[in-house]
Amino acid sequence: MRQSQLFTKTRREAPKDEVAKNAQLLIRAGFIHKEMAGVYSLLPLGLRVLERISAVIRDEMNKIGGQEILMTTLQQKELWEQTDRWSDSVVDSWFKTKLKDGGEVGLGFTHEEPLTSIMRSHISSYHDLPKLVYQIQWKFRNEERAKSGIVRGREFLMKDLYTFTASEEEHTKLYETVASAYQRIFERLGIGEQTYRTFASGGVFSKYSHEFQCLSDVGEDTVYVHKEKRIAINKEVMNAEVLADLGLSKNELTEAKAVEVGNIFSLGTRFSKALGLRFKGKDGKQEDVIMGSYGIGPTRLMGVLAEVFSDGKGLAWPSAVAPFAAHLVAISGGNGDVTAEADRLYEMLSENGIETLYDDRDVRAGEKFADSDLIGIPKRLVISEKTMSEGGVEVVSRAAGSTMFVSENDLIGHLEQ
Ligand code: ATP
Ligand code: MG
Repeated sequence: MRQSQLFTKTRREAPKDEVAKNAQLLIRAGFIHKEMAGVYSLLPLGLRVLERISAVIRDEMNKIGGQEILMTTLQQKELWEQTDRWSDSVVDSWFKTKLKDGGEVGLGFTHEEPLTSIMRSHISSYHDLPKLVYQIQWKFRNEERAKSGIVRGREFLMKDLYTFTASEEEHTKLYETVASAYQRIFERLGIGEQTYRTFASGGVFSKYSHEFQCLSDVGEDTVYVHKEKRIAINKEVMNAEVLADLGLSKNELTEAKAVEVGNIFSLGTRFSKALGLRFKGKDGKQEDVIMGSYGIGPTRLMGVLAEVFSDGKGLAWPSAVAPFAAHLVAISGGNGDVTAEADRLYEMLSENGIETLYDDRDVRAGEKFADSDLIGIPKRLVISEKTMSEGGVEVVSRAAGSTMFVSENDLIGHLEQ
């Protein structure tokens, strides 16, 4: 993409109404636009990052047998009344609205109820189990505080997977399969190191559910981390009992701020019982289906990545999610030969499948470099009279800050590795 054609502009100043680093940087760099507190639109660069995050998640979900669907945002009151999750006194984050005839509908904040209802038409015997079904869809939650940028949106993207199994053993096996897939997702996104499987409240078969908590100052959660054992305990459940369960003592743990990037949860038969999702077992008897639910927030992850991979100059995306692989910056100083050479290089990069943002704008070198630092594409390729005379480009690694000269012949190979 030619930067002269990109409609978004960078800005020097951080927006005054944003306190979170992720929102400040993403707005300054032109990745997102703030509509109101906790509500953001995605602009071209931001959408590219979000789609790449979603692609990693989708890939790992498909690998473990997940089948993708897309459910509706509008939710019918009658269904949610059956599980006692319609009332605002039970669920305080609903956004609700009215139909023309006066009937009430809600905007989905999660999707256990509608999916359980769908599965009633498709599960009837043990032959139909297990099943893994997921979607990547917008969720709506009337969050009380929305000060963390896209880390806590009132409208946000969630990947929600649900498992349907015949027995507790089958469920537990799948639960661990999903947990491993989650760990792989965080590793591929570059935050495997600082993301901990965390003991939290609310398990059905065990005493705990598990969160995946990424250590970061933007987090609103407090966790106690055991670095060597790669586990953490959420402050919510931190007490003598959990320490004994895990064979840990408090002085081995470090307190840290963290943000929940994923959550895995055994639901047992809570939803299948309430909504009548049953199957005929091997012995011919009717049984309730055992369920699990597993969430990951792609928009939240984008915010966390912006927090983790950034410095005083701007964003520094890991290559797995960067909006482009290369940022070609032409410093022509009015020399048409340099422009022609940069155009030719841009064509060559595109033909070789290297996704490139080409800064072909007629602005000062300093401005181009500052924008390039702010946008944070992993490799910056600088072409100037000097590099042209040497038959190549200067390659600057955004994260490491290192610079090296690469000849044109070696360039594609260098970028592909
Ligand atoms: P939190 O405690 O941070 O509010 P939660 O427990 O409400 O999170 P879940 O209901 O388990 O979160 O949602 C599953 C996933 O969706 C979370 O792990 C997170 O990645 C994402 N998520 C939840 N709430 C938000 C939000 N307001 N904005 C962006 N992502 C969110
Ligand atoms: Mg919440």
